[in-house]
Amino acid sequence: MADKIKDSEQNSEEKKDKKDNNDGKLRYCFSCRRTEDQTGPLIEIPGGFSICRDCMQKTMDLMKDNDFTKIGFPPNVVFGSQYSSFTDFMNEISGVSEPEEIGKLKPKKKKKKEKTEEEAPPLTIKNVPPPHKIKAQLDEYVIGQDHAKKVISVAVYNHYKRVLSEEQGDIEIQKSNMLMIGPTGCGKTYLVKTLAKLLRVPLAIADATSLTEAGYIGDDIESVLSKLLAAADGDVEKAEHGIVFIDEIDKIAKKKNTNSRDVSGEAVQQGLLKLLEGATVEVPVGAMSKNAMVPLTTMDTSNILFICGGAFPDLEEIIKSRLLHNSTMGFQGELKDRYDNDPHLMSHVENEDLREFGMIPEFLGRLPVVFTLDGLSKEALISILKEPKNAILKQYHRLFEIDSVNLKFSDDALELIAERALKKNTGARALRAIIEDFMLDIMYEIPKDPNIGEVTITRAYIEGTGGPEIRMRGTE
Ligand code: ADP
Repeated sequence: MADKIKDSEQNSEEKKDKKDNNDGKLRYCFSCRRTEDQTGPLIEIPGGFSICRDCMQKTMDLMKDNDFTKIGFPPNVVFGSQYSSFTDFMNEISGVSEPEEIGKLKPKKKKKKEKTEEEAPPLTIKNVPPPHKIKAQLDEYVIGQDHAKKVISVAVYNHYKRVLSEEQGDIEIQKSNMLMIGPTGCGKTYLVKTLAKLLRVPLAIADATSLTEAGYIGDDIESVLSKLLAAADGDVEKAEHGIVFIDEIDKIAKKKNTNSRDVSGEAVQQGLLKLLEGATVEVPVGAMSKNAMVPLTTMDTSNILFICGGAFPDLEEIIKSRLLHNSTMGFQGELKDRYDNDPHLMSHVENEDLREFGMIPEFLGRLPVVFTLDGLSKEALISILKEPKNAILKQYHRLFEIDSVNLKFSDDALELIAERALKKNTGARALRAIIEDFMLDIMYEIPKDPNIGEVTITRAYIEGTGGPEIRMRGTE
């Protein structure tokens, strides 16, 4: 391989002379875009490209792992006819495969990918992942919330075992519909989305506040099934094995002290009962309410998994007063202090607290699995920035990598971002907005100077008292 590089370098020198003599055109490295004056002599590579020594070295380092996909080249680079991509070229010079084979190899790889996507096996009793595997996959995306992830993994596993086992036998297994309680932005929706993705089942996300009793302004209750049908591309059978997530369920609590008909509260809970339990219902196709103009289809909800979620503000007060009421007289003051400072008070929730909150008993009876999620701490927010498979920082890092710039964040900068997010009281939802705010300038300014090789976002930069740390290419 070293010989090939040597040859290539020699070639480069020759071609350079030729080029300089012939047309005197300005040459630049096709990876980092610096001109030959800035980089020193360029190396000519097949396909009519030139590359600088720094980028070649970087490429060689990455080649140690045989992972050429990490090599960040501008997306607009077009390779010569002999090589369909830079990876092909590197494959050849590193001896991974012969050039004739490359042409054949590429489309084959593509075909394989299409095959796995298209022919993802349908969920059967044999391939439902066991709870520990479901949880392990959730762990890759969702930070913390260990208890919730465990409960949901077991409930989903049981649900699909019930749905997919052919022999029902004498014992009827109860449906595992769930109720998730947790503050806003702590990962309720994200957990369900990740779950549906990994099980490859259709998912509909509905907002309980938009639902009203049929005939009133708002969406009919069956519209949640219309959404599920749309998510299943109109395939009723597929939709009947899907998941419906109804968010903001606390907003349909029974209204207290009202004389008018409660069309968006108690009536919606009543309307949801038969869907949760399992019934055959007429569903409007492609619309949110039934009327003469909308075609209807029939759907059986017995095997649809319903997950309801809500923040349930004030529920803590209800739990606290129940716990205090149940305790023996005499220690009230001490207990009150303990409950006031208990960050997991919500996890003591019982059905009677939810009834007190305004959920009707029949509704709660159809959601047998109830669990809580914790509010996110500063440490959890920092982990959310860095760790999940598609973490925000990883996404930004990749964006800069394409321009061959290494983007870093100092630890104290991450702490500041998390502290600011905590103050907003919207959980992890605030993180992206905070980062986008200061990244705009960075994303605007950095591509102006192709010599920049590394940028570190510092706490001072976020605070507006200093700049980011910048390192030029070729300096250590
Ligand atoms: P809610 O609990 O209000 O439904 P979401 O699940 O919609 O909140 O969270 C908003 C966003 O915040 C998600 O899209 C996800 O990117 C991020 N997020 C929230 N909680 C977590 C978590 N525990 N782990 C990883 N990301 C999270």
